[in-house]
Amino acid sequence: MANFKPLVLDQDRLFPADPTVRAIARRLYAGIKDLPIVSPHGHTDPSWFASNANFDNATSLLLLPDHYVFRMLYSQGISLESLGIRTKDGTPVETDYRKIFHTFAKNYHLFRGTPSRIWLDSVFHDVFGLEHALSSDTADLYYDSINEQLVKPEFKPRALLDKFNIELIATTEGAVNSLKHHAALKGTGYEKRVITTFRPDDVIDADRADFLANIKKLAEQTGQDTHSWHGYLQALRIRRQFFRDHGATATDHGHPTAKTANLSEHEASSLFQLCLSGTASKEQTELFRGQMLTEMAGMSIEDGMTMQIHPGAFRNHNPSIFERFGADKGADIPSPTEFVSNLKPLLDKYGNNAALKIILFTLDETTYARELAPLAGHYPALKLGPAWWFHDSPEGMLRFRHQVTETAGFYNTVGFNDDTRAFLSIPARHDVARRIDCRFLAGLVAEHRLNEDEAHELAQQLTYQLVKQAYQLD
Ligand SMILES: [Zn+2]
Repeated sequence: MANFKPLVLDQDRLFPADPTVRAIARRLYAGIKDLPIVSPHGHTDPSWFASNANFDNATSLLLLPDHYVFRMLYSQGISLESLGIRTKDGTPVETDYRKIFHTFAKNYHLFRGTPSRIWLDSVFHDVFGLEHALSSDTADLYYDSINEQLVKPEFKPRALLDKFNIELIATTEGAVNSLKHHAALKGTGYEKRVITTFRPDDVIDADRADFLANIKKLAEQTGQDTHSWHGYLQALRIRRQFFRDHGATATDHGHPTAKTANLSEHEASSLFQLCLSGTASKEQTELFRGQMLTEMAGMSIEDGMTMQIHPGAFRNHNPSIFERFGADKGADIPSPTEFVSNLKPLLDKYGNNAALKIILFTLDETTYARELAPLAGHYPALKLGPAWWFHDSPEGMLRFRHQVTETAGFYNTVGFNDDTRAFLSIPARHDVARRIDCRFLAGLVAEHRLNEDEAHELAQQLTYQLVKQAYQLD
């Protein structure tokens, strides 16, 4: 007998087991579950929305872009080649998508207890209407059913934006990106719904192999002499405006650390020349990234863009994987991150400016209560982003709320970010955040630390208003 177990999403999932608290959580959730999704930070591909073409198949949509999925499989000895992950040198990998889906299905038990399991089951059940749990026995049923649905008009990317009740979604593009897909959206009615985000790491991080090529491209795009400090800064201003013209309301900075600097113009200019010459030390390229965060904060005050800082990812930790497959293959690992001293130069200059909006993220949870909540609970320019990446999980979100709320309050936080490439999982990810926020608020109500009417109001704000304020989306 084939192994056909039911796929059931319990209506009380992620709520507390205690019946008193659970009842409150249910009431809070009922008030917010149908609010529109605002997704101000993520990595979906803008070409999906520009071309509005149907997705190809279950494997290339659900598995190949999702490094959460293949890092877990890889950790259990399943090769990336067998999962169809393309190699940099073009050496052949598995191209039989059905076979890859079977490998995934056979190993689906590996995701027990992980947020990926919650997201994927929600996609299977809510988006594709599947009623049996994924296993080797149901792999063909899944693969065929998903593929049959994907060719339908209601599964085109723009139709899914409507189905998912996504009011707005931001993608993320590098500073020298042409933004051609966002340009193609102009006049379609979707240009205000699918917006870009300015991520200038490619022209700020002199440790990147493509740094000089990007500086050259920046000159071509802006007509500025990007080998002079002044021309380089002017070119960045021009690109920021170009991104704003394609909807951007925010910048994003993925630096190894939270280091900032406030050098004199002469020092900054000399450091820039060192970075261009290729002779800068690791310390000097780090100092340059730090100086540029302060420069970017200054430009944010000029043009009004919200600034996101995502420090602390040790990128491409596994050199063999990086050499064979490139970046974003599940080999990024969190590292300890310090904010109090590192942000001080930037804060000394701009921290008291309430018009500046800087959103801080961390992969180092030890900083929540000790550093981030006290900083955001004081400096008008600082807000705290939600639990990020490895901590974008039920337990991670609870740890975040428990550790920051007493010092930073709710109003120095900015709602939820899904930060995902996995488009179909966006409703499930936001639903997890909504359920966990209701769970946390219900606990405060049950302990008489908050009135239930206040908790209803907060649930609305955490889901909808705070994110729109923080990212200036009104
Ligand atoms: Zn991101």
